[in-house]
Amino acid sequence: MRASQLFARTLRDAPAGEEAPSAQLLLRGAFVRKVMAGVYTFLPLGLRVLRKVEGIVREEMDAAGAQECLMPGMVPSEPWKATGRWQAYGEDMFKLTDRAGREIGLGPTHEEVITPIVDADFSSYRDLPVNLYQIQWKYRDEPRPRSGLIRGREFLMKDAYSFDKDADGLREAYRKMVEAYRRIFERCGLDFRVVEADPGLIGGDVNHEFMAPADIGEDLFVHCTACDYAANVQAASSRAPEGPPDEDLQPMNVVETPGRATIEAVSEFLEIPPERMLKCLLYRAGDGLVAVLVPGDREVNEGKLARALAPSAVEMLTDEDFRRAGLVRGFVGPQGLEGVTVIADPHVRAGANWVTGANKEDHHATGVNVDRDFRVDRWEDVSTVQDGDPCPRCDEGTLRVGRAIEVGHTFQLGTRYSEPLRARFLDEDGKEREFLMGCYGIGVSRIVAAVVEQHHDDAGIVWPKALAPFDAVVIPTNMDQEDVIRTAEALYGELRDRGTEVVIDDREVGAGVKFADAELIGFPLALVVGSRGLASGVVEAKFRATGDRRDLPVGEAAEAVPGLLAEAP
Ligand SMILES: [Zn+2]
Repeated sequence: MRASQLFARTLRDAPAGEEAPSAQLLLRGAFVRKVMAGVYTFLPLGLRVLRKVEGIVREEMDAAGAQECLMPGMVPSEPWKATGRWQAYGEDMFKLTDRAGREIGLGPTHEEVITPIVDADFSSYRDLPVNLYQIQWKYRDEPRPRSGLIRGREFLMKDAYSFDKDADGLREAYRKMVEAYRRIFERCGLDFRVVEADPGLIGGDVNHEFMAPADIGEDLFVHCTACDYAANVQAASSRAPEGPPDEDLQPMNVVETPGRATIEAVSEFLEIPPERMLKCLLYRAGDGLVAVLVPGDREVNEGKLARALAPSAVEMLTDEDFRRAGLVRGFVGPQGLEGVTVIADPHVRAGANWVTGANKEDHHATGVNVDRDFRVDRWEDVSTVQDGDPCPRCDEGTLRVGRAIEVGHTFQLGTRYSEPLRARFLDEDGKEREFLMGCYGIGVSRIVAAVVEQHHDDAGIVWPKALAPFDAVVIPTNMDQEDVIRTAEALYGELRDRGTEVVIDDREVGAGVKFADAELIGFPLALVVGSRGLASGVVEAKFRATGDRRDLPVGEAAEAVPGLLAEAP
């Protein structure tokens, strides 16, 4: 490819409104152009990268025994209504109406399409297992599309669906997919962690996320400093503290705290650190009321709370609920709460002499102690883990919180979809059974952005060799010198003949512009042909990742390139 013909006008500055480094660099490097919020065109350079990610994903999925198919982007509403997801997705799903008034969706995922197809064509346990995948554009009406390709409204995904006759089969299908995912992310040059994910209200099912650590990431995950425990913050636990503390119990006292209705305000007013205060939050769970207790420096994790109270739906109390229960918002404590289920986080066991609401306007109680002053009906892990908490799995480690981009998600669905869609087969005994399903997603276009987030510097992108749009760029520095152009063209031609993916920067621009663009676009290797080097019979090879330079004799340069590329990360 000739740079003079390549459709790639690089930009000196990123367009306003793009904050993620990957979005800025992919726009500046002419990989993508924004069409509207959350929707991008892949230009020739960007499409080459996207195709390389696709190629890796396809190879590993095929090697793991999955079979590629292609489902439509447009999906009928009926099966989505049967699984409840037409309603559950709500406005996050693009919905349209055709000329006959039929409701149609743009698929954010495809369980509702593939399950009826497998059900129609496979009727016996002898047909199983099968794993079908596709690489297809997906749609999601994000309320706030941002971070370029990380959270778009149209995005390329690989999604696979496994169908098995029993739990062992499902576990084996799942294991194969997790192994394939590890190889995919390794080959893409991503630093990643496999973390335990929030199972949501489905509960119980095994579920992992593949997280690429990045400052811009929207997901928080914890990992242990000593063992391999890692989990999404929404799902993570820490080791429950020992308790009770070795501390004399004080008598309970009620003190005035005029107008102080928050932990911070009371903590400041009474000069008591937040961790000595007892946060008491009220929720409605089904028909009942629930009080949730956590130390004042911790947050209630509503995902964990929802799982602890499932299948009841959990909602915060309204002002009307407070009034009816005779409780004062901002001054609630667990003392003497009647007709309310009191749930406490294990961290509460390790504290004593709490300061909490006195159930009276503008008053708090001090010296409040569990069992003596209030009862706990259920001990449940309902708080969000914090940086520095002890690991739940080993004795030595502490948990660290990091930001990451979710690049993959694997899920043992069980009969979550086969049941409502009545997708069944006949087992060995001639009995009808529901398929046991797994689903496995990878954000193909999101990988492009995640790799840039992890591999860039001030000058631009540093593509891992496996994803770079081209392996090398040949840069003639003096376009007015015959021998420079002739040598560069010969090198370019020879590299092409040898199958190297190479660009020659034959533009009539200064060498500085060519160097800057080569670094911005991120070719793993630059081959610089200049009059000074030629005077000593050499071409200079420069590695993008390390900045290392090496002089190659002109006659041996093309031959040396495969070896140099093998050295590049
Ligand atoms: Zn650990």
